[in-house]
Amino acid sequence: MNGLPRALRRDAGTTGEPPARLRIAISMAILKQLEAHCLGALPEEGCGLLLGHREDPRASVTQAWPARNVRASVDRFEISPETVLAADRAARAAGQLLLGAWHSHPGGLAVPSDTDRAEAWPDWLYIIVGLADPARPELRAWRLLSEDFVEDEVEIV
Ligand SMILES: [Zn+2]
Repeated sequence: MNGLPRALRRDAGTTGEPPARLRIAISMAILKQLEAHCLGALPEEGCGLLLGHREDPRASVTQAWPARNVRASVDRFEISPETVLAADRAARAAGQLLLGAWHSHPGGLAVPSDTDRAEAWPDWLYIIVGLADPARPELRAWRLLSEDFVEDEVEIV
C-alpha cells in the first residue's frame, strides 16, 4: 500500500482499466472432490489440475485432475511436468483446455501466499482451498495479472 487514494493509484497503472475478472462455473461435485482431496492430503498441501473451457470473461471447470505434491510439503506444492503434460494431452483430446491448478493451504486462508506469487504462471487459474477450519473449507479463485493476483468469481452450478 502506498497510501494514495484508490483513484490515484489506479491512474498510476498502465491502462487505468480495472482488471478483468472471470466468472468461473464449477459444479458442486467437483468442488467437493477438491475439498476431499485436500483434506486427504493433510497435513501436507494437496494439489491438482483444472480442465475445462475458457472464453473470457467466462470459464468452466469440467474436470479435476488430482496430482501428487512432489514437494510433500506443508506450505509448498509442486506438480510434476509429466503430470502437467498428461493432463494437457487429456484435455486436448477431450476438446478442453488445461485451465490451471488447485492447491490447499493447511491451516491457512484461501489467499495467495508470497510463494504462490513467486511461482504462479501468468493468467493461469489458481483455485486455493483454505483449511483454517478443515470442517469448513474455503475456496477462492485467483489469477496473476502483471504483478498482482486478481480474484475471480466462482459460480457453483
Ligand atoms: Zn498457496
